[in-house]
Amino acid sequence: MNTSASERPLEGQTAIVTGASRGIGQAIARRLAQAGAKVACVATRVENAQVTAAECAKLQPGAQAFGVDVADTEAVAALCKTIASEMGGPHILVNNAGITRDQLLMRMSEDDFDAVIRVNLKGTWNFIKATTRPLMKSGGRIINIASVVGITGNAGQANYAASKAGVLGLTRSVAKELAGRGVCVNAIAPGFIDTDMTQSIDENSRKALLEAIPLGRMGQSDEIAQAVAFLAGPAGGYITGQTLVIDGGLSL
Ligand code: NAP
Repeated sequence: MNTSASERPLEGQTAIVTGASRGIGQAIARRLAQAGAKVACVATRVENAQVTAAECAKLQPGAQAFGVDVADTEAVAALCKTIASEMGGPHILVNNAGITRDQLLMRMSEDDFDAVIRVNLKGTWNFIKATTRPLMKSGGRIINIASVVGITGNAGQANYAASKAGVLGLTRSVAKELAGRGVCVNAIAPGFIDTDMTQSIDENSRKALLEAIPLGRMGQSDEIAQAVAFLAGPAGGYITGQTLVIDGGLSL
């Protein structure tokens, strides 16, 4: 067996990771670079993604940082062209950028609803749309980071849960459309992961959440990243249209 190929199965491939400046996206970028992929690290502003890109470049030369609002269709299309011409591919797309604007429905503003749908759902669609052609050429992989609340729902997160349920429907539809071209499209639905996004949860809610998780702890970003690397690698070649729930048993 060729050891280096099995340790770095993504060598020669370019991966786009959105929301790569911190949290889950940063861990995903690192894991993909470790597996040999050249990573295009995307955040809202190029300077936000530079630390991750520098770390990735140490693991696999050629990583670059980019800035874009994932909700801006034209800007995403232009960025994907730039990435393709400067870095090749892409062969792997990870839609991870996301926001929350939690509020009970009675108090949720139209802005709170629209912003979350635009970034989480339309942003995912924007990147899929802008990379479909090269992904079809390479028989590539799309991995969308959804959330377990897109399956279960959650009080105070009607906008967020709707956006993530939308991502799951988008995943399954695109999986059917692109299967004939050898593209595998899957979603990961994380539970309660220790990142900036979950820092603002108050102590009481945090305690209640931890009690509801059978494994009794929050997840770590790298536990999501390892699953992404699995789906992006050779072992993921016959998996499409699926949602992998990684939540410590929260949704059981
Ligand atoms: P995070 O720490 O808040 O990081 C969010 C990332 O998304 C940042 O890199 C941010 O870039 C980027 N981003 C936000 N809005 C953007 C926009 N309009 N355009 C481009 N980039 C944008 O979040 P996280 O906890 O790592 O979550 C990552 C993903 O996992 C999200 O989709 C989230 O919904 C999902 N998720 C998280 C959890 C959890 O418990 N943490 C659970 C389930 C699902 P900047 O740094 O430039 O702002």
